[in-house]
Amino acid sequence: MTGRTHLIVGSGVTLSVMSLIGQNITLPAALVAIVSSLLPDIDEPNSLLMQKTMPKTMLKKIKLALVAAGIGFMIYCYFKSFYVPFSYGIGMLMIGACLIHQRLFRQLLMVILGGLMLYLGASAGPWWGTIGALLMVCAVLPHRGLTHSIYGIIIWGAVLYFASLRLGEPLWTSGVMAYTLHLMCDVLTKHGIQPLPPFKWKFRLPLMSTGKFSGFLVESICITLTFVLIWHAFIEPMGETMFSLFTHFKNRVSAMLNI
Ligand SMILES: [Zn+2]
Repeated sequence: MTGRTHLIVGSGVTLSVMSLIGQNITLPAALVAIVSSLLPDIDEPNSLLMQKTMPKTMLKKIKLALVAAGIGFMIYCYFKSFYVPFSYGIGMLMIGACLIHQRLFRQLLMVILGGLMLYLGASAGPWWGTIGALLMVCAVLPHRGLTHSIYGIIIWGAVLYFASLRLGEPLWTSGVMAYTLHLMCDVLTKHGIQPLPPFKWKFRLPLMSTGKFSGFLVESICITLTFVLIWHAFIEPMGETMFSLFTHFKNRVSAMLNI
């Protein structure tokens, strides 16, 4: 299933259900729903979420900076005889990084970023360290592993629950709902999901494969159903409010005219 479908179905259904059950929809809750609808694919470096957070242009700039830093480092080592020839090896590695394929490069950046958060987490608080460690684990695990399991829902739910307690805003409901919806959508694909690894049991209802006609059909149906729900949750009540306002206004005018 494409990232676009996950985004529409995950956040659309979550926000509609929240509105229908009378939960307050705040901007942070909506943002959490949007991120959570894409978050499980953080283990796929070329997924929509990763393309948005680490765009191609940014990767190119980082690669160029690495080449420049590598050359600079080697020149410095040459003049200062800094651990030569081992330092040349590090410089070559930095320059060689520009040849790495986009997918692997994103993976590498995730590991570095996770490591940095883990390091800083020691002083900034345990949550940064936890998120950093998870980022590193997700980067190296195969696609649809930990993030596409019940553990993924529980971990993300726990992170949001404690964040909700600190911020005084119930973010975890929208997050857990959107995250679970992503997994439910992936159940419809031929690969399905593995809800309780290391158990090999797969949960799948193979109705479609992404990129094929079956994918287009199933994804279109899911998006249409989402829009029906959005209509029911947001547009219809808006129409009713407008109608009652109109009747109220009409009654006032006719009462005034009678006077
Ligand atoms: Zn997925």
